[in-house]
Formats: sequence, C-alpha cells, structure tokens
Amino acid sequence: MGGTVVNCKKCNKIFQQRLHPICPDCVRLEEEKFTRLYRLLQESAPQGGIAIQVLSNTVGVPVDAIEKMYMEGRLSTAGLYLKMPCQACGALCGERDRKGRFCHKCSELTANKAGVEVKSVQDIRRAEELEMKRQAQEAILKKARPDKPDANRFGFSVRR
Ligand SMILES: [Zn+2]
Ligand SMILES: [Zn+2]
Repeated sequence: MGGTVVNCKKCNKIFQQRLHPICPDCVRLEEEKFTRLYRLLQESAPQGGIAIQVLSNTVGVPVDAIEKMYMEGRLSTAGLYLKMPCQACGALCGERDRKGRFCHKCSELTANKAGVEVKSVQDIRRAEELEMKRQAQEAILKKARPDKPDANRFGFSVRR
C-alpha cells in the first residue's frame, strides 16, 4: 500500500503522501521546531511565561500556528506559560490571567454585554461568539448609513 504521489506543501518536493500533507523531511523539521517551542515554554516558567510573538520569532513558527497548537491542546501543561494578547484590550496574559481569547476583565465585560452568566469556559466562548456577531452586525449597519453627511445633498453650496 502506498499513498498518492503529491508535492510537499512546504518544500514542494514530490513524495508519497500517507498521513501528512508535507514530506518526511519537513515533518521531522516541524517536530524539531515543536520540541524547541515546547522546551522554551517550560523554561519560561520562572519568568511567568513567554510572549507568543517572542516565541514565534525565536522558533520560526507563525503566531497563528502556535495559537492553533494551543487551542488544540497540543501544548498541554506548557500552554500555561504561553502569553497571548487579549483580543479586546491587547494586554499580554498567561493562561491564568485569561479566559479564552480575552483577559479576565474583558471577558467579564463581554459576558455582561452579551447577557451571559459565566460559569465555565463554554460560557465565555458563547459570550465571545455573541459579541463577534454583534460587532459584525454593527459593521453592516455602519456600511448601510454613511458616516459623512452628503455635502451636496442640497445641490448647491452655501456662500456669504
Ligand atoms: Zn517538504
Ligand atoms: Zn483585555
């Protein structure tokens, strides 16, 4: 049994695909990067954690990829030391100072605004979703009514 022959999504080399969309060499490279990333996170514990941007620059893994690993729980206990900016106020916080994508302060504000009683992480996710929907709706409404009043609405300009 062999996989289909495809181009590696990373280095474009042709290889027999089995599990990954990238070739064995790239898989090994990714694993090395992951190990390094994981170790850096653990080592940052005495300092209270490491900022996601710093980690990204050091290891050469994009911020959104690290975010995904964290969300998928791949960083396990080391994820505790990953400092990410709050999606609302930008404050850099570790897992203890954060609820979902927001810092404690912002998640409370969001929950209040959305009228959700926060008892678990699921409630916060729900509040975030409601808030995102509300923001999207607001954006649509803003587009519908122009910000600037039409200067030529009266068809002439006022002169003294
Ligand atoms: Zn490759
Ligand atoms: Zn915040």
